[in-house]
Amino acid sequence: MIKFLDLHKINERFRNEINGAIKRVLDSGWYLQGKENEAFCQNFATYCGAKYCVGVANGLDALNLIIRAYGFGVGDEIIVPANTYIASILAISQNGCTPVLVEPDIKTYNINPDLIETKITPRTKAIMAVHLYGQTAQMDKINALAKKYNLKVIEDAAQAHGAYYKGKRTGSLADACGWSFYPGKNLGALGDGGAITTNDNELYQKIKALSNYGSHKKYEHLYKGVNSRLDEIQAAILNVKLANLDKDNARRREIAVFYRHNIKNQLITLPSVKNEEFHVWHLFVVRVGQRDKFIKYLADNGVQTLVHYPLPPHKQGAYKEWKKMSLPVTELIHKEVVSLPISPVLTDKEVQYVVEMINAYR
Ligand SMILES: *Cc1c(COP(=O)(O)O)cnc(C)c1O
Repeated sequence: MIKFLDLHKINERFRNEINGAIKRVLDSGWYLQGKENEAFCQNFATYCGAKYCVGVANGLDALNLIIRAYGFGVGDEIIVPANTYIASILAISQNGCTPVLVEPDIKTYNINPDLIETKITPRTKAIMAVHLYGQTAQMDKINALAKKYNLKVIEDAAQAHGAYYKGKRTGSLADACGWSFYPGKNLGALGDGGAITTNDNELYQKIKALSNYGSHKKYEHLYKGVNSRLDEIQAAILNVKLANLDKDNARRREIAVFYRHNIKNQLITLPSVKNEEFHVWHLFVVRVGQRDKFIKYLADNGVQTLVHYPLPPHKQGAYKEWKKMSLPVTELIHKEVVSLPISPVLTDKEVQYVVEMINAYR
């Protein structure tokens, strides 16, 4: 069986270094807000080409805290792609803001920048740009609109660690960026983790305090903050994995190139890539009409696939108020997408086999 994602195999490659990292924390007797967190934040900010990084508990908190730190709340609107993982939208709702959904481009699956302007109202405060599946959104157009209307741009890079856009990395393409280190992401911890990167010192200081009980100084609380921290063990592990991220992304890219050149089946729509973008292939997503049949066929032939995602956020029970909303491009994508196995530990033989199976599908 070719697994969709073999997390054990992914982390097994770093067993000794991870053991060393955990032991270092155990021996130090210091488990939160210490040297490991500081080192990781510094390394990760440098990696992204950003000035500042705050480690937090998860990706949802990262996005949530950015919005809160900007002071956006009830009555404010934030533009967000309709075609995203629900966390992007939940972060907006949790602050009392109104998420304004925008349809994706059917080619890239990312937000269609040409549809954003008509959604801007006097209440709009920000645009959230999600780099879905590992490919950056069209940041030039999004940033230009934001400038014109004086809006903030927030990146959701939970699926795009290390991706480039016109020579700059995700995490430094807008005003602030939310990150997730959920185990299955391109940069994954052995548990939950998240971060914010930004070049804005004021925002950085505020998020740092908000994430630690609103405290900028021990026992002095400026805000009604939350407890959302990246613990020392996860930070130490992430430092090990960050050093290997580019190599892992290069392998993902190699597999993606192989898939794109060798999968030849009229029933399958392959993903399209823009040249100026360095895609990091968090997911390799194809579209197919009779999805269930295709998934079963591959499973019967020993290839595990997943669907990202089967039901769009506006059709979820959590957003009953949007039940009647019609977003045909988003709905079509959710009906047809299938994610093929892609990860740095797939072998050439496995990749070849997946291609053969797909090409034989009728
Ligand atoms: C994974 C993910 C998140 C949330 O990250 P968590 O760490 O699981 O909270 C947010 N946005 C996108 C696009 C994601 O894929």
